[in-house]
Amino acid sequence: MVNEWKMNHPIWITNEDIHDADEPYLPSLLEESFLQWKSENDELPAFKSGLYRLYSISLQCHGAAGRMELEASAGLDAVVNEALRAALRSNETRIAAVENLQACAIPLRRRTNDGIFALLAYAAVTDAGLPAGELQSGALHFRSLFYRSFEHLYVKEIMEQQERSDREASRRDALFLTAKKLYDQIDATKVLSEMLQSLEALYPQSQVNLFLSQDYVEGDPRVKPLVFRNTAHDIVAKAFLDGKPAREHDRHGNMRLAVPLTGKQAAYGVLCISMEAEKWDETNLPAFLLLADTAGSAFENAKLYEQSNLLINELRLINEMTKRLNQSLRLKEIFQFATDELLTIFEADYCCVLQLDRSNGIFEVKASNIPAMSREAFSTEYGFCGIIYRTKEPLIISDYWNTRVVTSKLMDNTGSRSLIATPIFVEGEVVGVIFVANKVPNFFSYENYKLLQVMSTHIGLAVTNASLHAEVRRMVITDNLTGLHARHYLDEQIQNRLHKDAFGSLILVDIDYFKQVNDTFGHQVGDQILIKVSEIIKSVIRQGDIAARWGGEELAVYLPDVRKEQAQLIAERIRQRVLEETEPSVTVSCGVSEWALDHEKISVESLFYRADMALYDAKNRGRNCIMVG
Ligand code: GH3
Ligand code: MG
Ligand code: MG
Repeated sequence: MVNEWKMNHPIWITNEDIHDADEPYLPSLLEESFLQWKSENDELPAFKSGLYRLYSISLQCHGAAGRMELEASAGLDAVVNEALRAALRSNETRIAAVENLQACAIPLRRRTNDGIFALLAYAAVTDAGLPAGELQSGALHFRSLFYRSFEHLYVKEIMEQQERSDREASRRDALFLTAKKLYDQIDATKVLSEMLQSLEALYPQSQVNLFLSQDYVEGDPRVKPLVFRNTAHDIVAKAFLDGKPAREHDRHGNMRLAVPLTGKQAAYGVLCISMEAEKWDETNLPAFLLLADTAGSAFENAKLYEQSNLLINELRLINEMTKRLNQSLRLKEIFQFATDELLTIFEADYCCVLQLDRSNGIFEVKASNIPAMSREAFSTEYGFCGIIYRTKEPLIISDYWNTRVVTSKLMDNTGSRSLIATPIFVEGEVVGVIFVANKVPNFFSYENYKLLQVMSTHIGLAVTNASLHAEVRRMVITDNLTGLHARHYLDEQIQNRLHKDAFGSLILVDIDYFKQVNDTFGHQVGDQILIKVSEIIKSVIRQGDIAARWGGEELAVYLPDVRKEQAQLIAERIRQRVLEETEPSVTVSCGVSEWALDHEKISVESLFYRADMALYDAKNRGRNCIMVG
């Protein structure tokens, strides 16, 4: 501020004077102004007849001019010295004479006080005389030239200082702006590119590099992974490990400065700037350190923000998925839903859910978006599901092509390179495996891998729920003794079919003289016969047919989409096999009925009624036969 004011008010400068602090500048100022003075005056008579010398108050000579051959005269220095000392002592102009030489010393005074800052000495042979007037005016002229040089230097100094502080201010502004920009970023990658950009703007002749310690995905060629080689010779590693700046100069005259990029919680990497050592200005250092510091905390903030966002997102996903998983109690639906959901969440190319069939130790594909895989089954030793079954651990494969631990049909068939996989647990046992794959290598992050693990727990819970539900339902609809369906289940199913199909048949099977079997062989043998007959029935019918225990020793089979003629053949087969295969041998009588869309009255009751009537007929006809109603 003061400087600016001074610049606009030139009068002030004539009141400025040299100070003790200016001592170091004095010799050069004196020499410079003496040379100028000499060049302006060397035509004057005094220059022709005598020798001028300029002295500082410590009597150091700073220039000589005029009749130079006098320098060789014996006694010259002595006479000049005497005059100088006398002048200093008396604070006045003084003359001295020795033999044929005489000298005059004129004090040069400061302009704000009478203090002497230099002396002008003049020597000549005695005969030539001393041109007193010319010497005095010469001294005055020199003094004004000296002060002009002084003012010039002074102004130059001020301007330089002004320039420096301007530069400093603009750098502060730039730093402030950069810091603000850095803190405004909530994306860690953007923080880094913002920082690199600012550094390049601040230090245009430098090369800036960033070395990051974590596997941080970043397309910028200036960003490299931090690898530790020989720590003793690597200033980047040194800066990272010591947590403070490190510096080196190489043979080509380059300076490299490495500064750790740290936040409050951790060190994230090292910022490295290199440039020609000559171009590096040490006053840059604080700004550079400050920027690294700011970038470190901004990076950390952005990282934390990203992480908390990720967490929130994960929670939201898990919450949503759990809710939807629990809406279904059907395993197939759950697996299909999980597949769809995982594909979306991880933006993956492929997903495949396998369930372990514990009865034969085989993993079966239950849901997948790969048609070729939908019917696949694998042993508990095969491929990745084998590893997971054995270790009970999830796994992540960043590039299947490079690290082929096992052969995988899933990966080979789809040409996938990245894989995350996790077991599904129910009560601590592996009941299934989830695979999520992608064609691109290194596609899944560690966070993805962790998230899949969390999700598999929820899928496991849904599987448990669904399995429990299925078990309870199975118990409700199954007859305990025979393993056939319960009567109410048969009723429900026929009821459904009556709405959907065009026709169907019912066979009622009743064991002949069963009371006698019980009476003769006991109830337990009776039970065994009942079980045997049930097994025969199960083995005779097809998959869509429904066999049930209708009551006591009466069994019923509903055959969807089957006409009564066909049903009769099936009943006949049952009758035949019971006759042949039971021990003690029993026979059965069967009543067959059918329904079709064109019947007048279609109902479950009427269907049973007619089958029952036919059965009654069969009994009347002597048993061990089939009657169609
Ligand atoms: P038929 O049908 O030929 O006219 O003679 P039946 O002796 O089989 O006929 P009935 O209906 O009089 O007797 C059925 C017998 O089946 C009565 C009962 O003791 C026996 N029974 C019913 N349920 C079971 C069962 O779960 N186990 C055993 N062991 N016997 C049963
Ligand atoms: Mg009977
Ligand atoms: Mg009966």
